[in-house]
Amino acid sequence: MSLPVQKNDRITVHIEDLTHDGAGVAKVDGYPLFIVGALPGETSEVHVMKTLKSFGFAKLIETITPSEHRVAPPCHVFDECGGCQVQHLSYEGQLLWKQQMVKNAMERIGKLNVPVLPVKGMDNPWRYRNKSQIPYGLQDGRVVGGFYKTRSHEIADTDICIIQSEEADDILREIKKVLSELGIMPYEEKTHQGMLRHVVVRKARATGEIMVVLVTRKKKFKEKEDAVAAIKRILPEVTSIVQNVNDEKTNVIFGEKTMTLWGKDTIKDLIGDVRFEISARSFYQVNPEQTEVLYQQALDYAQLTGEETVIDAYCGIGTISLFLAKQAKQVLGVEIVPQAIEDAKRNAEINGFTNTYFEAGPAEEVIPKWYKEGKTADVLVVDPPRKGCDEALLQTILEQKPGRVVYVSCNPATLARDLRILEDGGYVTREVQPVDMFPQTTHCEAVAWLELKK
Ligand code: SAH
Repeated sequence: MSLPVQKNDRITVHIEDLTHDGAGVAKVDGYPLFIVGALPGETSEVHVMKTLKSFGFAKLIETITPSEHRVAPPCHVFDECGGCQVQHLSYEGQLLWKQQMVKNAMERIGKLNVPVLPVKGMDNPWRYRNKSQIPYGLQDGRVVGGFYKTRSHEIADTDICIIQSEEADDILREIKKVLSELGIMPYEEKTHQGMLRHVVVRKARATGEIMVVLVTRKKKFKEKEDAVAAIKRILPEVTSIVQNVNDEKTNVIFGEKTMTLWGKDTIKDLIGDVRFEISARSFYQVNPEQTEVLYQQALDYAQLTGEETVIDAYCGIGTISLFLAKQAKQVLGVEIVPQAIEDAKRNAEINGFTNTYFEAGPAEEVIPKWYKEGKTADVLVVDPPRKGCDEALLQTILEQKPGRVVYVSCNPATLARDLRILEDGGYVTREVQPVDMFPQTTHCEAVAWLELKK
């Protein structure tokens, strides 16, 4: 069968959508072509580079009619860096596109006709990240640091990243000099040699406390004390310097061993008026300003009067649980990582909550067990990873029928799939509110409110 386009064709196309990588999508007689740099609504001249059976790739030659939302990307490594995908789309354009993406998922995947509200965005969608994970390496004998290129482990070398904190920029830039001065070798993936793999910088928005984590291949390295002194010099505001050891050949940033080299073991932050202690490896939302918006939305949809028992599935370090605990009779949180449950318990204690209970384990096993033990919920909150809720958990919801479900999702596709299952089992989705947690990227968070049909 011949395809509607051939390699090396030069054609004019209309861009209809964006992929998760931020590439424009055009359809030629139904055959999708992916075009890096093109935006929805544009007419573009493209050169077909590669054709596969069900899709192909083309290069943008010229934008004939630009999108009204096209802007010049402010970052100088935007074209190479995999961190941001849509800096060439105005922020208003990003929010409109994200709303449409959620709507499309609801209609196409969920076969749902539900109100998807305009995305709640940020007033200033820059410098929002509270955590930066900076890989270092060598390129042509020169120390480089920055962020990985799209789908690659090659570093896009840069001294600034305008979605992270200015303190992280200071570290990013100065550590390059420190590595050369002290003769510390950055880690090299190919040979599994070198010492410094990543530097992770975390800043607590509410208190200003800063933790710097050096991820090294070995525990011992002779320049350690000098490195600690250098970090204190670069960033006098730092409150804790931690070392994490990772000797595996892996993409995962952190290894198992963590020790404090200087200062405190954790940094303290506030979400609303709830205090959290965050250690080097804890999962913590990266956009603190929007985290409050997201959790407030979950709280609004939960409509608590003080009489309800709430289950928070996939609770992490208990952030949503404690946010809800102020207004619930009781909150039960479950999470698969035992360390996170330890953090959740401690956070509950620090804040003086006595109406929370946390248990480690898979939500799909722990929650059915709770129901058998008579621990039932009026409201169930879920905040699963990208792959969505486990099928067994959805079945438990359908059997136990809590009156209200609040679904916090970081993936509109799995959200739509799971809402369909809950709808078929007797729930109705009242509303979906997207919240922009990740400006300049294609990531999209949304909260759905479901009620059990009477
Ligand atoms: N609600 C938290 C964390 C959300 S991230 C917050 O807002 O900070 C999703 C969490 O689900 C992660 O902490 C992950 O460890 C956890 N998780 C993944 N699979 C799980 C499962 N099967 N059961 C319980 N928790 C799980």
